[in-house]
Amino acid sequence: MKKKLSILKHGSILLIVLSLGACNKRENNDSIFPKGELAPSENFTGNAWNNPFVANDTVYNIVAGKVYFEPGARTNWHSHPSGQLLLIIEGEGFHQIKGEPKQALKKGDVVKCPPNVMHWHGASAATGMSHIYIVPNTEKGIVNWMEQVSNQEYESNY
Ligand code: MN
Repeated sequence: MKKKLSILKHGSILLIVLSLGACNKRENNDSIFPKGELAPSENFTGNAWNNPFVANDTVYNIVAGKVYFEPGARTNWHSHPSGQLLLIIEGEGFHQIKGEPKQALKKGDVVKCPPNVMHWHGASAATGMSHIYIVPNTEKGIVNWMEQVSNQEYESNY
């Protein structure tokens, strides 16, 4: 009897683990690219996962990768010396240039972030977002990080 209970218990734990796995997949189903590693909290608010699949080198002078932002997660304010391209591949989010209205983003949208312009990007409050990023001309630098996007800034339309 004791052995039977033990089996039941282990069976339940296995089911819970499998269910959690399934939920996770629904929230981040862009399975072409792995999820990557948790991005550093000094540059991001909330959980963002970075997979930097194109490393910088002196032939291409490009870095590229994918970031998955959990709902509510976003970058700090920052700029790129040569600008940045964002290709939205999953979910819903925002991009905002300092002093301009927040721009809603959805799967299939493409954003050009101009050089040396202060901006942030991230998920909507209710839905996560994944984008590919491409930073060109890395010989000029890649990113200059600044302060967090406050909750007030995140919730505002401007
Ligand atoms: Mn950027």
